[in-house]
Amino acid sequence: MKFSEFIEKYATHPQYHAPTGIELHAKSWQTEAPLRMLLNNLDTRVAENPDELVVYGGTGQAARNPKALLQIIKCLLELEEDQSLLIQSGKAVGIVRSHPESPRVYIANSNLVPAWATWDHFEKLKKEGLMMYGQMTAGSWIYIGSQGILQGTFETFAACGAKYFKGDLRHKLIVSGGLGGMGGAQPLAATMTGATFLGVDVDAERILKRVESGYLDHISYSYTEAIALINKAKNTGNALSVGLVGDIGDVLELMLNDQVIPDVLTDQTSAHDPLCGYVPNGITLEAARILREVAPEKYKQLSMKSMARHVGLMLEMKNRGATVFDYGNNLREMAFQGGEKNAYDFNGFIPEFIRPLFCDGKGPFRWVALSGDPEDILVTDKALVEAFPNNHQMIAWLQKAEKFVEFQGLPARICWLGMGEREKAGLLFNELVKNGKVKAPIVIGRDHLDCGSVASPNRETEKMLDGSDAISDWPLLNLMANTGGGATWVSFHHGGGVGMGYSQHAGMVVVADGTQRAENCIRRVLHNDPASGIFRHNDAGYEKAKQNMKDFDLEFK
Ligand code: NAD
Repeated sequence: MKFSEFIEKYATHPQYHAPTGIELHAKSWQTEAPLRMLLNNLDTRVAENPDELVVYGGTGQAARNPKALLQIIKCLLELEEDQSLLIQSGKAVGIVRSHPESPRVYIANSNLVPAWATWDHFEKLKKEGLMMYGQMTAGSWIYIGSQGILQGTFETFAACGAKYFKGDLRHKLIVSGGLGGMGGAQPLAATMTGATFLGVDVDAERILKRVESGYLDHISYSYTEAIALINKAKNTGNALSVGLVGDIGDVLELMLNDQVIPDVLTDQTSAHDPLCGYVPNGITLEAARILREVAPEKYKQLSMKSMARHVGLMLEMKNRGATVFDYGNNLREMAFQGGEKNAYDFNGFIPEFIRPLFCDGKGPFRWVALSGDPEDILVTDKALVEAFPNNHQMIAWLQKAEKFVEFQGLPARICWLGMGEREKAGLLFNELVKNGKVKAPIVIGRDHLDCGSVASPNRETEKMLDGSDAISDWPLLNLMANTGGGATWVSFHHGGGVGMGYSQHAGMVVVADGTQRAENCIRRVLHNDPASGIFRHNDAGYEKAKQNMKDFDLEFK
């Protein structure tokens, strides 16, 4: 197919979709895979705003602009197996000589020298066309829609239930702000645990998108109606989810006045970005759009002030008995800067619920069927159940996912797997491709939110045992290990999840195409990647990680 025909068929801005089936457009599956995943990230069924090439997470983009995107597509279509493409903040900038077992694409997004690492400086460079914000999986081409965060959110709510509610969230109310790309997984994750859920978002379009994708049961434009619905559901133990159109601060204030105290309260508004993410209290979406353009400084001040009020109300909910935690959007820091001096009086979700999993090398392992055929994912699900008959949690999740999850774009699956398990699963998938049990290769990747791949002191590395929260040598070592190991594409980003200046993180994707080359790479990468998480937590002094060093023969003299 000629380049112009390919573009006409798959990439006419803003209509993007990934090719499916077994016909190659690029020169090998190693380059067809990143090509399909890039286009899949921008698919209207997947991306939050393909017009702006925004995939999720506020302004997280897959490519810098439509022109740069076309160039990347062209390079991927023509790239040879002894070449690697360099991407700098969403733009192709060069091709280097490499070899078949090295990564085909090296991606660096949004990185700034530490003293310049602020939103202000980033926005200046972005305006000049020099950078883009890659979030975590937007710019590294491994976003799989809301399902990507679904299992993590499900695990988090379930862990919260286990820790604070004797393992039973029925008759419990979970409230949260933000139903965007990531936050949109909350209603389904909550109802999967048996809880009743109320989500509040200023943007009705975002809420409607969740209803359409089957992640949310009901949209409401009235506070009174929404509260009546959730009260009834909570009392009867009905796992109902309601999305209410409104400002989260306003809704929390009304709930406090009406003494409607949630059992669990968290937040997934795009607080990490006080200019292009969070919408200040008291203004319409349209007014916010204009204010952003004409008076960005004023916008930011209003935004941070609103976040201070928002967190103040969360603290009041905590005083009245709600279990409150920060859900990784840097809301506490923004609120602190906006004037709420007690903003850090509740914990983040990682030290609360996730760190023990990180000590086992567990993290958000995910895979995508490049064939586009949902049946291929069902084949992988079945193979995993057979390969891990004693992993009851995994089996329970896969059964729930098959029942509840609607695929967005290329069919995909997420499942938190740990050290040993990831390698075993990867090799299994490679065999399924080799033996023709699935129709086309399987892409294996993960979020940057993982055990060894991120330094983010207000999130993944909050309150590390040895105080090493801000040391970002770790994600760099993870990147190097995965590059040397032969991941198919690797990435290093700044500012994901919590915004500029607050995080540095690495990504990897490895493609199971059924070849010996893929097997070699999978054996190295899917060992090294979770091992780096165990090294990181072992070094920080966690007993569980120390034990895993022994159990997985990772000790060295
Ligand atoms: P998003 O931009 O797609 O959605 C954010 C939503 O918040 C939007 O729908 C927006 O309308 C809404 N919103 C903004 N201000 C509001 C207000 N005042 N009241 C009510 N709603 C408001 O972002 P996303 O992808 O859903 O991510 C949400 C946040 O979570 C981001 O900060 C992201 O960095 C962070 N994040 C968390 C995790 C995690 O694992 N917990 C992972 C990735 C990202």
